[in-house]
Amino acid sequence: MFDLIIIGAGPAGISAAYEAKKLNLNYLVIEKGLIADTIYHYPIGLTVFSTTNELEFYEGELKPAREKPTREELLSYYVRFCLENDLNIQTEEEVLNVEKLAENNFKVTSDKSEYEAKNVLFAIGAMQYPRHLNVKGEDLPKVHHRFLETYPWVKKNALVVGGGNSAGEAALFLAQEGANATLATFRKDWEETDPKQGCIKHWVKEPLEEQLEKNCVGVFFLGRVVEIKENEVLLESENGTVENLPNDVIFVLIGADADLTMLKNLGVETKNSKYGEVPIYDEETFETNVSSVYVVGHFTEARHIGGAIEVPKKIVPKIAAKFEKVKSP
Ligand SMILES: Cc1cc2nc3c(=O)[nH]c(=O)nc-3n(C[C@H](O)[C@H](O)[C@H](O)COP(=O)(O)OP(=O)(O)OC[C@H]3O[C@@H](n4cnc5c(N)ncnc54)[C@H](O)[C@@H]3O)c2cc1C
Repeated sequence: MFDLIIIGAGPAGISAAYEAKKLNLNYLVIEKGLIADTIYHYPIGLTVFSTTNELEFYEGELKPAREKPTREELLSYYVRFCLENDLNIQTEEEVLNVEKLAENNFKVTSDKSEYEAKNVLFAIGAMQYPRHLNVKGEDLPKVHHRFLETYPWVKKNALVVGGGNSAGEAALFLAQEGANATLATFRKDWEETDPKQGCIKHWVKEPLEEQLEKNCVGVFFLGRVVEIKENEVLLESENGTVENLPNDVIFVLIGADADLTMLKNLGVETKNSKYGEVPIYDEETFETNVSSVYVVGHFTEARHIGGAIEVPKKIVPKIAAKFEKVKSP
């Protein structure tokens, strides 16, 4: 019987594991992919937008060559942190179900085994379901819902669909590295300048505009994507005219959603927020309405890596304190 099972080894799960270890809890992290799997899937060579203080477990540990770390530097830091602290993480094992058997007694079922735990902390992130356009042809192999690298697309006709920073970055990288890239976006997203609205960050937008002036990238103000075909894509413009673009590859980068199924099956209540559906939890303890079920990280309202790391530092000691209360009369 584990004191605490943590589902997911992203920044939130790693932070929770480290706290649990410091407090001598009998804990286990189960991760369906690799350590920091979401970061592993960032585009190769990407420089992240956060500064080091928002990404570190402890100040001064992450020492990037430039002001902000690359994907590789960040990933290396998180992996080394887990190894150097000998955190109890099992990778490539997916949790399929969590069932409450009794108070402080959960059965956690994975694709490899079954476990029992007194507390369960969900740190599952919000990357499970990349959003789809739901148009004809989206199932063609040339359509990707993640962007990893540019080099397979040199001299190819590449279309990026989306209005946020990931889409802007993908279009910029493709244009800079010799693809014939077009960004299909809503005009309101292109013109948005408020970072809180998830706009393209100015250090991406400015070089993108330079590429636009040099005719190295195109921007298509979208009404909707009509259809994707083998060698072309049909786009309806904001004015309602339909254009047929030659096309070799498409990146649909319009966000992703968490999978809240396990939480809902446990009876955890959810609500709609500006981020979409999120679990309801106590703002101090991050415990849900199902006692001893906790949530942290990117599928809560404490988004981004900074929150994903800080919240476990606050709540895992509260979980540990429950055991002390049980021990002392
Ligand atoms: C391209 C890109 C760039 C970004 N740049 C930044 C940035 O600069 N700064 C910033 O703050 N944020 C950035 N983000 C967002 C950032 O990645 C997230 O905020 C961060 O990963 C949240 O950490 P987390 O631990 O909550 O979730 P995640 O890192 O997503 O970790 C969740 C983990 O849970 C695992 N998991 C899910 N379901 C299961 C299951 N059933 N069983 C077992 N394991 C499971 C997943 O495999 C994953 O490893 C960026 C995102 C992208 C896509």
